[in-house]
Amino acid sequence: MTRKLTADRIVLATHNAGKVREIRALLEPFGVAVVSAGDLGFDEPEETERTFAGNARIKAHYAAKKSGLPALSDDSGIIVDALDGAPGVYTANWAETPEGRDFVMAMTKVWALLEEKHAPEPRTARFNATLCLAWPDGHDELFEGQVEGRIVWPMRGANGFGFDPVFVPEGKAQTFGEMDPAEKHAMSHRAVAFAKLVEGCFG
Ligand code: IMP
Repeated sequence: MTRKLTADRIVLATHNAGKVREIRALLEPFGVAVVSAGDLGFDEPEETERTFAGNARIKAHYAAKKSGLPALSDDSGIIVDALDGAPGVYTANWAETPEGRDFVMAMTKVWALLEEKHAPEPRTARFNATLCLAWPDGHDELFEGQVEGRIVWPMRGANGFGFDPVFVPEGKAQTFGEMDPAEKHAMSHRAVAFAKLVEGCFG
């Protein structure tokens, strides 16, 4: 039996401004107030697991224990078929530089590897989002969503974040970076996982 959320306030266990913006918008209709781990001054736990679920659990449990409130995390990434699933769980790591994350560099690296491999078109890929809602007593619930699409080049669009400028979802012509945010929110991996969370925990 999935545990229901009864609190009217949760912590978003992320420091990623793009994710905070999207999850805030997704939660808005449910009257749940949201405060981010970044706003509370929490540090970020190390993501030491090799799966989206494992890392989502680390982040949510850490924020729930520290705040005494239910905490929601999102571990996500882009899985590129011709790169054997890379960067996958390590999507954010591919953008790391001593000066912070550089996603233009990470997207350029993905495209360069695809070119090097002469990967056939379409260069299929999917975004994955795994949400973990954890309670201070150690209970948690996990929900997963994916959206299929392909990697395109050059980068297009200034909306969204991360790999959005090089991802065209199946059946669409625009990248997530070009789309109106509402259109992305209606179909994204995060929206699919979120719908499952709502069904399971907000009912
Ligand atoms: P993590 O979940 O914090 O380890 O990082 C996941 C990374 O995957 C993000 O920093 C983004 O680069 C990428 N990513 C996840 N979701 C999206 C999305 O909706 N659009 C674009 N990039 C995303």
